[in-house]
Amino acid sequence: MTTTTTMTTIITLTTMNSKTEKILLGHGSGGKLSHELIDTLFARHFKNPILDQQSDSAIIPLVGSHMAYTTDSFVVDPLFFPGGNIGNLAVAGTVNDLAVSGAKPLYLSVGFIIEEGFSYSELEKIVISMAEDAKSAGVTIVTGDTKVVDKGKCDKVFINTSGIGVLNKIHTEISSGSKIKPGDKIIINGSIGDHGMSVMAARNELNIKTHITSDCACLNQLIADTLKISNNIKFMRDATRGGLGTVLSEIVTGSDYGIQVEEDNLVIHENVRGLCELLGFDPLYVANEGKVVLVVGREDADTVLDKIKESPFGKEASIIGEISEIHKGMAWLNTNVGGKRVIEMLSGQQLPRIC
Ligand code: MG
Repeated sequence: MTTTTTMTTIITLTTMNSKTEKILLGHGSGGKLSHELIDTLFARHFKNPILDQQSDSAIIPLVGSHMAYTTDSFVVDPLFFPGGNIGNLAVAGTVNDLAVSGAKPLYLSVGFIIEEGFSYSELEKIVISMAEDAKSAGVTIVTGDTKVVDKGKCDKVFINTSGIGVLNKIHTEISSGSKIKPGDKIIINGSIGDHGMSVMAARNELNIKTHITSDCACLNQLIADTLKISNNIKFMRDATRGGLGTVLSEIVTGSDYGIQVEEDNLVIHENVRGLCELLGFDPLYVANEGKVVLVVGREDADTVLDKIKESPFGKEASIIGEISEIHKGMAWLNTNVGGKRVIEMLSGQQLPRIC
């Protein structure tokens, strides 16, 4: 590094730390301002030997025989909500998609699309959240990209994360659920609807005062611990957009078994239930960002449940139902008043821009 470059960096750090600093179109130009933004913000917080090479592609070592690869984009509104922000979602969402496929998440890419005029300090808060979450989940952000668009052409900031993980051959059938059979138990690691209702409450236009906290969390450690104690985990999926109801109907669609779920066994926090009633939402279809649904062989279900409960993200875990021979291709909810209700696939969008 030349003396000139070093000086430039020092000057930039001073100016970019100002609370009033805004992102300019030039920060996405690929030129001097882009390099300054990368050096003072992204490379500074995401620092690791692979990213530090600043090459066109991250060169990563090959490990294991099977790789999982996923991508997700995040457009949540508002960017900050109780329990997290768009950066936490972008890391947890991609880490969890890898983990529920039976993979150990290893590497992430991060793409930012930023609106001209967006606050530098807010962007930095988001970047710091991402760096912290990646570190605690044991994943490395190895490559990224930044584009800046004219004011009004996107809403503050959108983020895309892609992720790579490795998995053992014995876990390659978890994502398809091809081993599910009647008698298997369905487990979820806690309450439903917290994320979606937290974001709804945070939307300014609703002006609702509640204390709902998003469940946004990286579940890879919880999942890895669970996979270590049982070879009988037949399926996992994170119940994000579309909620638990959507995951249940995805499991049974086109299959020769059904699902029976006991409403009594679902955990729905009182404040979440209250806001859902007020706004006319069904908590079964409200987004979560830290919930995994597992289908587990009957004989291992209690052991798996106990292991999940040891995790800070599994304290309220429960067995919510089972795979049944009856009602093939359909998921049923046995309601707490003794009725029965079909859990259908959500038609249309219940909550836009929730993640
Ligand atoms: Mg998913």
